[in-house]
Amino acid sequence: MTTPNTARLAKRVKLSDGALITRMLDIAEGLEDVIKLGRGDPDLDTPAHIIKAGQEALANGATHYTHPLGIAPLREAIADNIRAYGGADYAADEIMITPGGQQGMFIIALSLLDPGDEIIVPCPGYNPYQQAAEMSDAVVVKIPMTLATNFTLTAEMIEPHITERSKILVLINPNNPTGSVTPPDEVRKIAELAKKHDLIVISDEIYSRLTFGNNTVLPVASLPDMKERTITLSGFSKAYAMTGWRIGYLAGPRDLIMPMSEVNHAFAISTAAVSQHAALAAMTGPQDCVEEMRQTYDARRRAICKGLDAIGMGYAEPQGAFYVYANVASLGLGITAGAFCERLLAEGRVMMYPGTIYGDHTDDFVRMSMTQPVDRIEIAMQRMAQVVESFRADARAAAI
Ligand code: PLP
Repeated sequence: MTTPNTARLAKRVKLSDGALITRMLDIAEGLEDVIKLGRGDPDLDTPAHIIKAGQEALANGATHYTHPLGIAPLREAIADNIRAYGGADYAADEIMITPGGQQGMFIIALSLLDPGDEIIVPCPGYNPYQQAAEMSDAVVVKIPMTLATNFTLTAEMIEPHITERSKILVLINPNNPTGSVTPPDEVRKIAELAKKHDLIVISDEIYSRLTFGNNTVLPVASLPDMKERTITLSGFSKAYAMTGWRIGYLAGPRDLIMPMSEVNHAFAISTAAVSQHAALAAMTGPQDCVEEMRQTYDARRRAICKGLDAIGMGYAEPQGAFYVYANVASLGLGITAGAFCERLLAEGRVMMYPGTIYGDHTDDFVRMSMTQPVDRIEIAMQRMAQVVESFRADARAAAI
């Protein structure tokens, strides 16, 4: 039933294909031994020294609100960390700690977008950017990316979509769900485009420490004259397996960060003190835990790709993050990615998400998260092969 309230809610929060996720979760609930490659939530534990720092902080009284921007030592440590990885030079008051990177997206949208302003987003791409923009009554301009270019966003693709109302350009590097990394030369061209058209760039670099092979992330804000027009969004959820701590950050010029801290304060007053102290340990402690996780994902990535090759299913080269974006259409079964996911779950007890959740209008792709150990991934790939075989048997039977 649509009431004025539900209509208002539907306008404010477009739950992109939420119905499908709910249906899949319902199916999964009635099944045993489901291998979950759906959510982007690492199965790996937060490293022990980070947990310990959180416990000690609680014992020492980190149970209060903090400065709305976050505790100063954490902001300083983040600024050092950004510099150490080739990013821009930030002062501590150019960093704002948020309750998760995701909340940062909403803070940016509410702070910077007026009704009718245009925000350019890569498509497919992490969808809360769109939801945040829609809540501000901004216009979302989607740049379609395709497998032909491994879903890489290029300046050439963006430029025709720029208008008088364009205000923000979102770059997600590495991208979720496609796992593609924007090559450094392309980042440079995109930066030039942003300067030419006076755009603010939101650079989501939350997966930047998780790249594979020769792929590396060039931080946009480090390029000449870009710091003043870039807000870098990042956090601890992915590289430090800290999703449940709900902590992320925005880095940008003072004149943007300061007003946004008012919005952050209005939303949350501050980020949980305990999480800030744990994040401080993540920033200042040993970094080999990140490299270990990266290698773990790399091994999982190989296992998924090997399984897909055996099935004969195409996919985008996973260059970063922890997702493989696979092409259901390449199987030639004449089914949508949504139908594939539902049957794979019901029959094969493997859960993955259709790309439609991330704005893929072809309904040809599925996102597989590398959030299970290699032995479970191998079983998932065997189950997937069997389900593909049963789709093929159905198609043969229908043809008789
Ligand atoms: N950015 C991207 C590209 C993501 O995939 C996610 C989460 O999946 C986030 C930001 C938000 O992460 P969090 O709110 O846990 O920091």
